[in-house]
Amino acid sequence: MNLALHDIVLTYPDGDRRLTALDRVSLEVGAGEFVAVVGPSGSGKSSLLAVAATLQTPDSGRVLIAGQDATAMDGRQRTALRRDRIGIVFQQSNLIASLTAVEQLQAVAHLRGGRPRAVAARAEELLASVGLTDGKQHRRPHQLSGGERQRVNIARALFAEPSVLLVDEPTSALDHERGEQIVSLLSGITREHGTATVMVTHDKAQLGAADRVLEMVDGRLAQPAAA
Ligand code: ADP
Ligand code: MG
Repeated sequence: MNLALHDIVLTYPDGDRRLTALDRVSLEVGAGEFVAVVGPSGSGKSSLLAVAATLQTPDSGRVLIAGQDATAMDGRQRTALRRDRIGIVFQQSNLIASLTAVEQLQAVAHLRGGRPRAVAARAEELLASVGLTDGKQHRRPHQLSGGERQRVNIARALFAEPSVLLVDEPTSALDHERGEQIVSLLSGITREHGTATVMVTHDKAQLGAADRVLEMVDGRLAQPAAA
């Protein structure tokens, strides 16, 4: 199992009490599986992704990434696991304003210590695979549309060949048609790269592309009432 969450509880400080954001959540996602998570605002969807991304440490429960228990690791081991195994695409594209699309990917590769020539070729190849060609791979974020920026984010997340791909409302800034294109791109990537993909979305029209749809309600994960 590429991603396994076992009985996760996550709380946040809330005045003199604690707010339970994740209430005994379990989830297993295999290689090549595309899971969509829906649910109202504040139900815990982003918290779920943050725990799966090993960015938030749960109060209790276990997080396994490609069989490795992230909750048993120290901070350094967890950072290495995240860098090597997990691709993350957040709602806002957190691209660096001064860098071209190719350079965004190179910057990540540099952190991982790749050889420059090979890195540039692979960056171009990945950008082409998400549809950024014809010179667009050499544009900076402000010279790209919202959908194109999200494609750069996705290509960047794939650079390390992750086992797990986590995507938070990737289409919230896009019109319906571009949103559908991004979701079908993610679905194709999941098959081709064999990632365990979890996508949070508010757009019910996108659920057809998913292998499985889960609903988050008050920090609990369940099958939707009417799937
Ligand atoms: P969603 O993504 O479904 O909108 P979140 O996971 O962002 O939900 O939030 C779940 C709950 O946890 C909400 O009540 C939210 O206010 C709270 N929350 C999220 N992040 C924090 C934080 N860093 N500190 C305190 N409370 C938080
Ligand atoms: Mg959210």
